Amino acid sequence: MSFGIHRYLLMTVDPVHIGTGGTRLGRVDLSIVREPGTNLPKIPGTSFSGAIRAYAAYRYGKRRCAGQGQPRDGREGHCAQPTCPICYTFGAITGERSYSGVVSIGDARLLLFPVYSMVGPVWVTSPSTLEDFGITGQTVAEGKAKWSNITNQGHLNLGWLMVEKEGDLGLDGLPQGIPEQVRQRIVLVSDTLFSQVVNSNLEVRTSVSINPETGAAEEGALFTYEAIPRATFLWMDVVVDDYREAFPVTTKQCQVEKRQENGQTVKVYNDNAGEDLPQAWQTPADVIAAGLEWVEHLGIGGMGTRGFGRIRKAAEVQP
Ligand SMILES: [Zn+2]
Repeated sequence: MSFGIHRYLLMTVDPVHIGTGGTRLGRVDLSIVREPGTNLPKIPGTSFSGAIRAYAAYRYGKRRCAGQGQPRDGREGHCAQPTCPICYTFGAITGERSYSGVVSIGDARLLLFPVYSMVGPVWVTSPSTLEDFGITGQTVAEGKAKWSNITNQGHLNLGWLMVEKEGDLGLDGLPQGIPEQVRQRIVLVSDTLFSQVVNSNLEVRTSVSINPETGAAEEGALFTYEAIPRATFLWMDVVVDDYREAFPVTTKQCQVEKRQENGQTVKVYNDNAGEDLPQAWQTPADVIAAGLEWVEHLGIGGMGTRGFGRIRKAAEVQP
């Protein structure tokens, strides 16, 4: 099949920070990216795409195809070979040309956001948040909340905010991959209130700047950053439009040979000729899955992206 949408349900394993790269906003030095309009935090597809590409390239033994691609500072740039599953999937930029890839990775958007209450953690959501994911028909009055089973009391605190119960929550259509103990503890509030609850319950952490040359903390370099808390559920669509239908199926890593030519060391890359891959990469979606797997262990940051924090794929679900 040449066209398909893969929808992933994701869960944060660490506090996740994807910075705007901007300056101080309110109480924190490093704020996270938000959706215009709703003001809800999101993880931009470009950040995810960078991390997934980098990890997939490393797994494939092809570091040159990991990053931005422009050859500079001794970097070779993307290989742009038709035999390269990384360049085929994500596209390539060489010194002269750019080639488009066959996947586009959408933003990861909130589905369920964890908040502390007097009866333990609960996961908050709103009608529009559910609707964007495909669960329609939920309503709740402004300033009120709906839940089932969490408490017999008629009110509940979401962080510092006390809400009154409007009624029981009947929620169908939540995907596989959301644990039962989370399903039992969902609180529905209005879209406006959801944005307030989320924005006042983001993690704010303090860290020190490290001088990269000495490895020591810089004096007076304390800074604060915002992060999406652990155990937040998000979702993300990956669109595969493989119009060329020429994906180079690979079962082995790339083999890199160094040769001497005219007194210079030259690297030769042989695609699909090295160590066996853990599983064959049959499609661009396999490359995405392989990269995503490492985001669970190594986090979304590194390799030049402005962020950090591990994110686990909880399930692949029907869009
Ligand atoms: Zn390549």
